[in-house]
Amino acid sequence: MSRAYNFSAGPATLPESVLRHAQGEMLEWHGSGASIVELSHRGPEFMEVARQAEADLRMLMAIPDSHAVLFLQGGATLQQALIALNFAAPGQAVDFVISGHWGKTAIRQATPYVDARIAASSEAGGFRDVPARAGWTLSADAAYVHYTANETIHGVEFRDIPDVGDVPLVSDFSSSIASEPLDVSRFGVIYGGAQKNLGPVGVSVVIVRRDLLERAGQPRADIMNYASHVRGDSMLNTPPTWNWYLAGLVFQWMLAEGGVDEFARRNARKSALLYDLIDGSGGFYRNEVAVGARSRMNVPFFLHDDALNAAFLAEAREAGLIGLKGHKVLGGMRASIYNAMPVAGVEALAAFMRDFQQRNG
Ligand SMILES: *Cc1c(COP(=O)(O)O)cnc(C)c1O
Repeated sequence: MSRAYNFSAGPATLPESVLRHAQGEMLEWHGSGASIVELSHRGPEFMEVARQAEADLRMLMAIPDSHAVLFLQGGATLQQALIALNFAAPGQAVDFVISGHWGKTAIRQATPYVDARIAASSEAGGFRDVPARAGWTLSADAAYVHYTANETIHGVEFRDIPDVGDVPLVSDFSSSIASEPLDVSRFGVIYGGAQKNLGPVGVSVVIVRRDLLERAGQPRADIMNYASHVRGDSMLNTPPTWNWYLAGLVFQWMLAEGGVDEFARRNARKSALLYDLIDGSGGFYRNEVAVGARSRMNVPFFLHDDALNAAFLAEAREAGLIGLKGHKVLGGMRASIYNAMPVAGVEALAAFMRDFQQRNG
């Protein structure tokens, strides 16, 4: 077996030790006579897995009691619609700050239900920066302000939590959740699909300030109601037990490795390795994002000549480096270097990039 270093943006690489652990428990979980994926979600075995996963995520992210934690289906995209349905009255203003592709998705999902306003956007500049807070036009009557903490495709990240006063701040953290310490208390809602930084696709994490759950929102079915999900412990219907279990193993792995402080250090080191290499390549490689807004998670880059792209990808694969093709919106390359990507993987990529430049520069 030869596992490559996988730079895919999502679903993304998982810690090998987590996969081995799951492999070891695949046929039978803790003497229960069955795999965890074969047991009732209401039985004591899975209830324990679910309880432990929430406790571990709370410890990992220092989530205060003021906030509920949900494990739901439907991905980040469904949450973008549900957040509008739950927290805004029909037609109420919601402010959106757009710094890339996923901010545009967020506004599209909310538009049928709310008066979706663009408070700021960096689209005119090709999403190469975050819109500076001083330039945002916020509505006095907004139900919440939404922004995307890390834009996975454009490689643009907010390095600070924007101050929006008393209006609840809602943020899509799909691709940067638990990548560094974060003051969760500053947020009304933090949400994300698990498949980038937290685990497998098929489960989403929603962290919601409990007082927001009392908002009337819009007419909606129980299954679309966050308050009902909180009351039902994220088990209104059959939850994605395998995905939830696997995410729980990732939380335990992160805690054992030293928690978010340690991952903040590793992520800073990994991203600096790549940006320094790109900036020092004399134009052979290029990243176009403003230095202060460069993502620590997703590093999009271009070769000086697109004709080299196919050879770059083929030779990278030969060198055991996969998932580097850029998103079709941007073209070029992208290295996604989430928590589970070891420093050694980024060092291997940097060595390959230097070598490729030497042979083709
Ligand atoms: C991947 C991603 C999404 C979409 O997630 P789904 O789980 O596929 O709905 C939304 N926002 C961001 C920032 C992402 O990276």
